[in-house]
Amino acid sequence: LRAGGLVKDFQVGSVGRRSVLRAVDGVDLELAAGETFGLVGESGSGKSTLGKVLLRLQTPTAGTVEFEGRDISRAGGRELRAVHRRLRMVFQDPYSSLDPRMSIGDIVAEPLRLHRVARGRDLEARVTGLFDQCGLAAAWRHRYPHELSGGQRQRVGIARALSLRPSVLIADEPVSALDVSVQAGILNLLKDLQADLGFTCLFISHDLSVVEFMCDRIAVMYLGRIVEVAKASELFALPRHPYTQALLSADPPLHADAAATPRVVLSGDMPSALDPPPGCRFHTRCPVAEAVCRTEDPALVPRAADGHPVACHLVLADGSGPRL
Ligand code: SF4
Ligand code: MG
Repeated sequence: LRAGGLVKDFQVGSVGRRSVLRAVDGVDLELAAGETFGLVGESGSGKSTLGKVLLRLQTPTAGTVEFEGRDISRAGGRELRAVHRRLRMVFQDPYSSLDPRMSIGDIVAEPLRLHRVARGRDLEARVTGLFDQCGLAAAWRHRYPHELSGGQRQRVGIARALSLRPSVLIADEPVSALDVSVQAGILNLLKDLQADLGFTCLFISHDLSVVEFMCDRIAVMYLGRIVEVAKASELFALPRHPYTQALLSADPPLHADAAATPRVVLSGDMPSALDPPPGCRFHTRCPVAEAVCRTEDPALVPRAADGHPVACHLVLADGSGPRL
């Protein structure tokens, strides 16, 4: 799955006073088959919108989405249905994403019915298999979402997303609405399922320890842009972008060297995507910003020969750069 120059705008405001909110602003991204790719950033950074555009739940304003070599950015009708069979989403909120009037067996069976993949006994056997894979008791087939715990409901959401055996699964904050005590169970389930079924996963989260646990590679998003992309181990060992460093310092418990890392507190909130700052979008909060940052927009490129892509003027070709 590949994105090139992806842009997504929303019109906001009333007639006569419309403005454009650019939620995703020129994203290039490539997911290799079978990998788990993490997307992190504060809420409002455009992660969920990017996920929805990649999945073609929304149409991009500009740029392309390619899936298995085919441009699907403008796909419609039957072609889009075929895309939606292969690319599936697990939503953040297992409370609102399940129809309260349907039994959980019917919820899991629905995509198989709608896409005419199975029916009758075959359908029931598939549902039983999915229940088993996702740790749901077969006896619960006729229960309703309100009879289950949050963790069990998210298992239903995962079973539904996997029912069509997708090649790409986008999981948008799949555990952030759940009690901490059940989060690990859901994350382990996703990991095990991926190992068994081999799907590619885009894992969206604001929680760095969760993406560290789940992902092979990670992209950090800020105000509609990707500011750094690296292998997970590299990102945590040597974060280059000041924003990545600030995010990491705010989330120390998992890191052995946490005591040595001073905590960086960013001033202010992320600016509105309705009126993004010129130059580097992070300059209004960056502790090491210089004059050039206020006028020139840094490109997301490898700054050192052996380095990963990072969008910051101060990261230099010899690999040195700002350390907060
Ligand atoms: Fe900070 Fe400048 Fe780098 Fe942007 S380009 S992250 S403002 S140092
Ligand atoms: Mg979101």
